[in-house]
Order: sequence, then C-alpha cells, then structure tokens
Amino acid sequence: MLEGCVPWPSAIAQSYRDRGYWRGATLGTVLRSAAATFGDRTVLIHGRRRVSYTALDAWADRLATGFARCGIKADERVVVQLPNVPEFVAVAFALFRLGAKPVFALLAHRGTEIRHLCERSGASGYVVPEAHRGFDHLALAKQIRDEVQSLRSVFVLGEPSEDAISLSELSRLNEAQPELPEHDPTDVAFFLLSGGTTALPKIIPRTHDDYAYQSLRAAQVCELSTKDVYLAALPIGFTFAWGCPGVLGTLQTGGTVVLADSPNPGACFPLIEQEQVTVTSLVPSITQIWLDVAEWATPDLSSLRLLQVGGAPMTSELACRIEPTLGCTLQRVFGMSEGLLTFSRPGDPPESVLGTQGKPISPADELKILDEHERELPVGAVGELVTRGPYTVRGYYQAPEHNRRAFTEDGFYRTGDLARLTDNGELIIEGRIKDIVIRGGDKISPGEVENHLLTHPAVAAVAVVGVADDFLGERICAYIIPRGAPPTLTELRTSMRERGVAEYKLPDRIELVDSFPTTPLGKIDKKALARRS
Ligand code: AMP
Repeated sequence: MLEGCVPWPSAIAQSYRDRGYWRGATLGTVLRSAAATFGDRTVLIHGRRRVSYTALDAWADRLATGFARCGIKADERVVVQLPNVPEFVAVAFALFRLGAKPVFALLAHRGTEIRHLCERSGASGYVVPEAHRGFDHLALAKQIRDEVQSLRSVFVLGEPSEDAISLSELSRLNEAQPELPEHDPTDVAFFLLSGGTTALPKIIPRTHDDYAYQSLRAAQVCELSTKDVYLAALPIGFTFAWGCPGVLGTLQTGGTVVLADSPNPGACFPLIEQEQVTVTSLVPSITQIWLDVAEWATPDLSSLRLLQVGGAPMTSELACRIEPTLGCTLQRVFGMSEGLLTFSRPGDPPESVLGTQGKPISPADELKILDEHERELPVGAVGELVTRGPYTVRGYYQAPEHNRRAFTEDGFYRTGDLARLTDNGELIIEGRIKDIVIRGGDKISPGEVENHLLTHPAVAAVAVVGVADDFLGERICAYIIPRGAPPTLTELRTSMRERGVAEYKLPDRIELVDSFPTTPLGKIDKKALARRS
C-alpha cells in the first residue's frame, strides 16, 4: 500500500477476499468490465452531452496516456477540483488507470484548503475549472503551484494557456496508446477529505477493493439495475454522490448518471422529468427546499422511486413529509467518508425508516457502542459508535499520531457519534461527542475556524460552536472576547475570506463576551455556550 497508509491486517484482508467482498479489480478495470458489458448504453448525461460506457472507457485511456506524457506517474497525487461534469469522471478513471491518486477537493475550497491539501498529499498535479461561479480557479492554481514545491502541473477544464494544460488537449495528445500496467487493487485508488475535528482536514485513503465493494453493495441495497437513472445532485467529490451508490454504483450496475450543476430544485426538477431520473441523494437542508418548492410548483417527479437522505441529522417532521410530497420512497442514509454506511431498505416499515438510520450495508460491518472507558455497551444503551469492516479505513494518510486517537487498538474507527442499536440491529443517532459543526451537509471543524479568527487583531480569544437552526440544522456561532474595539461579523468574515477560506466555514453569527464558561477540568464548556444561543 502507498507509504503513509495503514493496511488492513493480512488475515482480515484475506477473509474479505475469501468471502467475495474484495474482488481484486481496480476501479479502472471496473470501468473496463462495465464498458464490455454495457457498451453503447449511456453512462453520463450533462446538459445535452451524452457519454456512452464505451466512450468513457476510451476517453479515460486517452486521458491516462495524456497525463503520463505530461509527467504524472503512478503513485503521485493529483488534486481534482471540478464541478459535476463528465470530465470529472473521465479524469478520475484516467488517474485510476495510471495508478496516480486523485485527491477530491470541494469546489468551495479556496487557497487555504487547497494549499493544505497539496502540501499534505505532496500533489504533483492539480486539475481545475478555468473559473466557476465567478471564482478564478486557474489564477489560484497558478499561485498554489508557485508556493507548493511538489506541484508541477496545472490541468484546466477550459482553454490551454502558457501555465496550464487543457484537458481537451490532454486527451488529444496521443493516437497510439501504450498499454497501461495493471495496478494492485489493494492499494489506494483515491483520497477523500475528512469532515474532521482537527484544525486541518485529514486525508482518507480509499482502496480500489474497498470502494468498488462499497459502491456495488450500496447499489445492491438500493436495488439498482440497468433501468435506473441516478441524479448526481450533490457534488460528486463527496462520497455520498460518488459511491453510496452514486456514480460508481450506478456505473457497476449499467445505469445512467445525470450530472446536475446544482442541487437546487430549479436545476434538478427539470432533469428528473426530462431524463426520467429514478434515484437521487440529498442532505436534509436541500431536501427541505425540494419539499417546499414541490408543494407549490407541482413538478412531474413521477419517475423518482428512491430518495436517499443523509449526511446530517434530519428532523422527523421533515422525514414524514418526503413520501407524501415527492411520491417516492425515503431511504435513510448514515455514513462517513471513512467508510461505514447504514441504509434503511426499500420495504422497511415506516417506524424504521422514520425512526432509525437503518442497518449497515455489509454483513461484514462490525459496529460497537462504547462507554467512555472503552467498554462495550449492551443493545439499546447510548455511547460512542465505533466500527470496522471491508470498506472502513484503518487510518488516515500520513497521520500516525492522529490515527492513535481516531482508531481503537483493534482497528475500530471512532466515529465521534453518539448512537444506540435496536434489537433489530438498526442504528439510531443520538448526538455527537466530537467537536464539529454540521451546517447543511457541510462539516466544519470549530478549531480551524478559531485559528483563523485568532489571527484578527481585535480577537483576544474565541470559541466556535454550532447553534441550532431550523433550516441548516446548525449554524456557526463564534463567541469572542475582544481586544480593544470589538470586531463586527462583517469584518471577521471579510478577514477570513481574505485568508482564502471556503465560504461555508465563515461564522454566521458572533457573540461578544467577557469570559467563557469552563468545565470542572478548566476547558471551555462549549456545550454551555451552545445552550446559551
Ligand atoms: P463526512 O465524512 O464528512 O460525510 O461526515 C460524517 C459524519 O456526518 C458522521 O460521522 C456523522 O457525524 C454525520 N452524519 C452523516 N450522516 C448522518 C445522518 N444520517 N444523521 C446524523 N449525522 C450524520
């Protein structure tokens, strides 16, 4: 496995192979097989563009050769920051074929996050759109290339320029394609980002074997077939839309993926009708907008059979409105970029779907609920959910110290979620012990925001907490002890923007205080602060 990653113990890995979970194929080979089986069927739709399985397969080969000719080698990391367009999928498969490792960044990420990702992953390439929603990604890419030593090449979705190689140029670079060597399916295929609690996001290595299994298994639980049309409404750089089952699960079962430019109803409702979408996935805050709009706009959503909702807590009021308003089955999804997925199943009784997060998708998923002394609790008791299994990572990339805290000695990932299990094996989430704000579907580390705010001269001390919000679930509130003239919210947001921080991490609210409440151990009592708001 790539240096800096933690492999599964070999006996466990062998048992996953013996039980048929890990099939020993790279994701590049998964596409090759899908192309051989599904040929001219459409795999991707974006606007008027339609890409067949055969065409995607050939495109990935051409791009892989192009990347290789531009000096990208097996095992090198390439940060990929693209919107939901066919090029995203083609680039990812090209890099899988080359054995290079895409690191999926969010489009919302700005200089601070991208610099960190490039440095932490030692990236040698960076793929960007020229500009997107008014932000000049290419200018940022050139700046980052000047700053980060490992970064040699910028690839752009757009016109070629002196400093950047365009993706269209790249796929034209080669006529005769050299055979690409096969890669080890137990090795890392790509990296996801943790929504993490640490000041800077951790990088999550996902292997070919584990992710091919996760996405196929999720597709089986969703009963996907060649008839299904999956709408990628959320960004496909998120694991939810990439592989739960998302793009990769649909592709393995011969369906079609429709790529949406935005998750909003204005973009998605017409696509559902035109392309006869059958399945999609949303976070609760976007679901609420869909319901509000569907109630007065009466769109034709009759093709939609399954709506997956997850990524953040959902109120039961919202969950109850989904089936009557949208006329499709609700599937509860609890999951994480580190692995574990629990789904309710089509046909589950309403009390399960409305009251639980369903069951793990794999029979090999192991879930335990621990108390604060690491003792396993009986069924029904609330404690921290820890998990391991054939698609749950054993460690973050190049983070040995953090891994010691984030995983138990026997390899269970500590989710930081408070949960209990029912007699039936269904999961119920009761809260969180980790210090994280979940704003809509975005995960924000309070520590990261605090560090940025502390650089402002008018901030002497700060504690960031999530405060309840009807729409987003939580918003970001910064409690501030000022130094001199108190800062305003606008000043602080501007200063974070100028530091190149993604917009979704900026505080929504500030509260000026003289001191912070503390716990008996003298730490800032964030729970007390959150209760104040
Ligand atoms: P990420 O890896 O960034 O997707 O974040 C994973 C975390 O999101 C989980 O550990 C939970 O804290 C939270 N989460 C995901 N799905 C749900 C859900 N259905 N209900 C409540 N929290 C969720």
